[in-house]
Amino acid sequence: MKTHIVYAHPEPHSLNGSLKDLAVTTLEAAGHEVQVSDLYAMNWKAVVEAADFGEQATSPLQVVRSSGAAYDAGALTPDVMAEQEKLLWADTVIFQFPLWWYTMPAILKGWVDRVFSYHFAYGVGVHDETRYGERFGEGTLQGRRAMLSVTAGGPESHYSDRGINGPIDDLLFPIHHGILYYPGLEVLPPFVLYGTDRMTADEFKDAAKAWTERLLSLETTDPIPFRPQNFGDYEIPSLQLKPNLELPGRGSFDLHVRA
Ligand code: FAD
Repeated sequence: MKTHIVYAHPEPHSLNGSLKDLAVTTLEAAGHEVQVSDLYAMNWKAVVEAADFGEQATSPLQVVRSSGAAYDAGALTPDVMAEQEKLLWADTVIFQFPLWWYTMPAILKGWVDRVFSYHFAYGVGVHDETRYGERFGEGTLQGRRAMLSVTAGGPESHYSDRGINGPIDDLLFPIHHGILYYPGLEVLPPFVLYGTDRMTADEFKDAAKAWTERLLSLETTDPIPFRPQNFGDYEIPSLQLKPNLELPGRGSFDLHVRA
């Protein structure tokens, strides 16, 4: 396995830092290759601006068009191109981050905004009346797998079906489906630790054991069965799920999961 770990926490000795370190040592000890993007240590620039696209930047700036032109011309900035190369090198991508305001830290969102450029992660394939590109199951990152490893301060009950925060699968859906599945990555069920702000050393031992087990079974873990866009489940061109395909008692985001 070739694993790219994208890690977002400002403190190397944090819980997230420990989980990232454990992932590196566990995977390498099992004979896998690992590359880490430590976004804070890299001082990753999270904001999109015209300078990202050099001479390909339009004026006034149109981000989508400029991003695609710079990608096509091989003129994206070296930091972005290096991250795209790591994604193409990897067969597995792990994202390690704390849940901040119900989503990923801003530095990681900024990594997505800049690295998942037009023509690389979106705007791929034919777009016409019958086909809306290669995405959701197809695309540049097809054939690769991704997994979120997330720590949450709140207890698990707050993230259960009736919990006040909403189910964790719903909260993570925009990342799983909208960011990872969109450019073709198969998405593995997330590894989530709850109640982490009060985690004791003993609880860490249990968490580390569970994390090690997940890491060592990545290759045999089934992905979340999201419905692919171009294989018959959706009406063309509305891209609405066809009637009667939903499973009984399931709605909202669950519509887009097959079983
Ligand atoms: P740390 O603070 O580094 O550590 C957490 C605990 O683990 C500490 O007590 C530490 O001693 C212990 N620990 C035990 N063993 C180890 C070890 N070997 N290595 C490292 N640490 C160990 N939570 C939510 O649920 N929902 C939210 O929307 C949310 N939003 C937030 C927004 C912001 C801006 C912030 C700052 C926090 C938010 N939180 C939220 C809480 C956040 O998710 C947690 O603080 C975070 O997940 C804890 O991870 P950490 O790596 O920062 O932990």
